[in-house]
Amino acid sequence: MIDSRKSHTPLRQVAIVGSGLAGLVAATELRIAGVAVTLFEKSRGPGGRMAAKRLPAPADGSADIGAQYFTVRNPAFRQFLEQYAGNDCWGEWQGRFRYQDDQGSWQDMRPAQRFVGIPRMSAITRAISAGLDVRSGVRIARLQRNDQELWTLTDTEGGTHGGYDAVVLTPPPAQTDELLTDSGLSELADDLNIRISRMQACWTVVVHFPQGSGAGVEGFMPNSSLLNWAANNSSKPGRDDDGEWWVLHGDPDWSDANTDMAPDQVRETLLAEFLRCSGVTAQPDNFLVHRWLYAKPRARTAQGHLWFADQRIAVAGDWLDGGRVEGAFNSAAGLISRLQAEGLISDLAQPR
Ligand SMILES: Cc1cc2nc3c(=O)[nH]c(=O)nc-3n(C[C@H](O)[C@H](O)[C@H](O)COP(=O)(O)OP(=O)(O)OC[C@H]3O[C@@H](n4cnc5c(N)ncnc54)[C@H](O)[C@@H]3O)c2cc1C
Repeated sequence: MIDSRKSHTPLRQVAIVGSGLAGLVAATELRIAGVAVTLFEKSRGPGGRMAAKRLPAPADGSADIGAQYFTVRNPAFRQFLEQYAGNDCWGEWQGRFRYQDDQGSWQDMRPAQRFVGIPRMSAITRAISAGLDVRSGVRIARLQRNDQELWTLTDTEGGTHGGYDAVVLTPPPAQTDELLTDSGLSELADDLNIRISRMQACWTVVVHFPQGSGAGVEGFMPNSSLLNWAANNSSKPGRDDDGEWWVLHGDPDWSDANTDMAPDQVRETLLAEFLRCSGVTAQPDNFLVHRWLYAKPRARTAQGHLWFADQRIAVAGDWLDGGRVEGAFNSAAGLISRLQAEGLISDLAQPR
């Protein structure tokens, strides 16, 4: 039985599951509001899908395998980045970007400011996470609430982390659903299921052209059922590569239908399609392959965030706000504004 008085007491200690951008934005704003925050992250470091992967030897750098670039349309997002990431670790990626229309003709993409992390996408989330309490390599498996209505989180190694009066969940929807269901919170999971748009997979291949590709553009979206996007990662600011590293993203439906394909076959398929679509004749000499099981939502969604007041569980993430980097910011910032409006945190944080 929930004591309704307690559901109005201000938040003092909050656990956040996931340290992608949404988790980091929520943590930063909660901390400013005087709340003690701990982030739990299953991977080795923060960043989530704003990910870079070390390139295979003899290369000495990394490539952005997840988010390729992001928009900064919301002035509050710019302000947040300037304040908490600084001005050195992100900047504009300028270049020629094209797409192929239904008739097969190449068109320029709409002019837009495209921002990237410098020297890699994950530099931004690294910078924001400095000073936050991020427990990396901890995969949360279950949530349990005690008589005092405080949450304890249990990780997959059996470790327990307790004393939180609220929990913010930021993993992609299938993982959030699983966490809620395994915690006996199937009503919340059901509610989630009504709202979610399924995330699609994305096979990613990174290829190296030692003498350059001669593609003549920095990024393109072909009219292809195999290849969704190709980008010259070495053309982004602050990269210092020999030759050109290209990032190829598989079509979402094709990736979904082929999640079990052997990585070598994925590589051959996407490379052949890249060469066919771009007309590039250079041959690459080095590769890496990565599979995203949850990359981007199939459809755009607009709930922003979820707040289950009785349980004091929040859900935030890009998939609740358009499915992109800026959506992850907007989702978490919207949650913080909601908590302020409900008197659960002070208004020291900056509402958006
Ligand atoms: C291939 C690809 C291409 C993309 N291209 C673009 C693009 O060009 N532009 C753009 O704006 N966006 C793009 N995106 C989307 C963008 O990356 C996301 O919108 C954004 O990074 C999502 O941030 P988030 O914090 O909501 O989620 P995430 O970054 O997914 O963060 C969730 C975090 O939760 C962690 N986690 C999950 N389960 C648990 C658990 N049980 N315990 C602990 N931790 C857990 C995960 O490891 C992860 O770090 C792309 C994504 C992919 C994969």
